[in-house]
Amino acid sequence: MAQWLSGTITANHHWHANLFSIKVQTPAFDFTAGQFVRLAIDTPDGRVQRAYSLVNSPGNHELEFLVSTVADGLLSPLLQQLKMGDKLDISQPASGFFILDEVPDGDNLWLISSGTGIGPYLSMLGTHTLWQRFKHIVLVHSVRTVADLAYRELIQQARQQYPGQLHYQPIVTREAHAGALNKRLPQLIETGELQQACGQTLTNRSQVMLCGNPEMIKDTKAVLQSIGLTKNLRRTPGNITVEQYW
Ligand SMILES: Cc1cc2nc3c(=O)[nH]c(=O)nc-3n(C[C@H](O)[C@H](O)[C@H](O)COP(=O)(O)OP(=O)(O)OC[C@H]3O[C@@H](n4cnc5c(N)ncnc54)[C@H](O)[C@@H]3O)c2cc1C
Repeated sequence: MAQWLSGTITANHHWHANLFSIKVQTPAFDFTAGQFVRLAIDTPDGRVQRAYSLVNSPGNHELEFLVSTVADGLLSPLLQQLKMGDKLDISQPASGFFILDEVPDGDNLWLISSGTGIGPYLSMLGTHTLWQRFKHIVLVHSVRTVADLAYRELIQQARQQYPGQLHYQPIVTREAHAGALNKRLPQLIETGELQQACGQTLTNRSQVMLCGNPEMIKDTKAVLQSIGLTKNLRRTPGNITVEQYW
């Protein structure tokens, strides 16, 4: 059974009306970049708990979560309203296998996300393992509007720290934005536009992590499989490692 830690909100940054990042102070605990915990709030109708990926890197003891508010959702609208000093329960231990230890070596590593699915990759950017294991890393963030492109500053810092090793490719589907592609991910892969924009190949010698909404994952996985990549399973290592948010 999960244990619970009591956390205190230290910040709630609103990127826009439906997207925010909360920071939470808790007693220190170990986790691996890419894992998630459950956040819980007690309401008059009972306890509500949901899974959220850790955005902070291991060793940084202020926890951080990137959350989108789901209209009519039970927990995310409550999280959105949290203010400094408010309390929040955090499950222990952190869970999940969407971590670099589960990903085989490859010519390059594609970290592909939609929406808040970029969270686990932000955590990985702050680990040595990522930079030591993969010569070329491509971080793809697909969103609807430019305002959804959270954490650009942090990503820029990582690019400066590891020059030439990280390519960041935003995809903005509902607005035109300089430097961003603006079609759906599966289509961009099928036509080779994504690979061309990033200057990287996407072959059965690549490793691909996919995180975010179920439709993006299903359709992107299908395109990747059509060009020869296979699902990465412990018993049969392959190229595609997946974390689906709902
Ligand atoms: C391993 C894991 C990690 C996760 N990490 C994150 C994270 O870092 N950030 C984050 O925002 N969410 C994350 N989620 C999703 C999160 O757990 C909740 O499902 C989400 O916040 C909605 O909860 P809710 O109580 O507000 O809505 P609910 O009352 O649970 O349900 C509303 C319905 O909305 C749909 N839904 C769920 N999430 C979304 C979404 N983001 N956009 C649109 N529709 C949605 C589902 O169909 C769901 O049935 C993660 C889920 C998993 C399984």
